[in-house]
Amino acid sequence: MKNPLVSGGVSHLPPKALSCGRCGSADRLKLETIESIEPHAGELAVWVTYACQGCEASYAHSAPFRDVAAVLNRSGNGSGLLQFGGQYFHCGEPMAFAESSARNVYAPMTTEDVDDGLLDVYLKTRVIQCRCGFRMELPV
Ligand SMILES: [Zn+2]
Ligand SMILES: [Zn+2]
Repeated sequence: MKNPLVSGGVSHLPPKALSCGRCGSADRLKLETIESIEPHAGELAVWVTYACQGCEASYAHSAPFRDVAAVLNRSGNGSGLLQFGGQYFHCGEPMAFAESSARNVYAPMTTEDVDDGLLDVYLKTRVIQCRCGFRMELPV
């Protein structure tokens, strides 16, 4: 019989919030990598490496995704949109597919050299939606 408690690796450490251990601040953190960790219970967590630009210290540990998204938002990529692991996140939450976008597609009437490939791509879009109402159209 295997005791599951014995096989602990570093990724089993509980996620903790991002902050600089030297200055105690999270204001000057620069995220370097975000990686998925093995499936886990509870809140979504990821493995992050980051550096404090004030202290030039770097850190690596697992962190709640919500905290990572907060740091990303603060460091000013603006939209709050984040792509990670094949999913899109907004407000720190994975965005869900909205019901398929059944909007009308207006085919160009005057253009003679309509590119069928482009039109095809345009038709095959799906819409993902955040619970805050943010929507984004994705090519399939
Ligand atoms: Zn620092
Ligand atoms: Zn949102």
